[in-house]
Amino acid sequence: MHKIEHIGIAVKDLEASNLLFHKLLGSPHYKIEDVPSEGVKTSFFKTNTHKIELLQALNKDSPIAKFLAKKGEGLHHIAFEVNDIIQEINRLKKEGFTVLNETPKKGADNKLIAFLHPKSTNGVLIELCQEIKDIK
Ligand code: ZN
Repeated sequence: MHKIEHIGIAVKDLEASNLLFHKLLGSPHYKIEDVPSEGVKTSFFKTNTHKIELLQALNKDSPIAKFLAKKGEGLHHIAFEVNDIIQEINRLKKEGFTVLNETPKKGADNKLIAFLHPKSTNGVLIELCQEIKDIK
């Protein structure tokens, strides 16, 4: 079974949302990370069970900028942690899901990530993520 690793929320103003989620959760974000490849600036919060990732667009071509223009702020994606992302991408492709990244890419928080198109997952963008382990 997959575990929910984090929930991604698209926001317009990361600084304002960091304060808001600090109040909401009772503790501040524990890191901020730019992911230029995705055109996003992220911040992470911990809850007991999983993380919350806030996403702000770094530029107007960012997928987050497009999402905000179309849908406004709100739930952007749900991320599931997988043990072997390549194997999972292959399995899901065979099951008929539209995989947006056949080759996983490096995401925030030291993860390899791949997305499934929301048209194949009831309108919810799904992220698969696998922790990058140090190569010894
Ligand atoms: Zn994410």
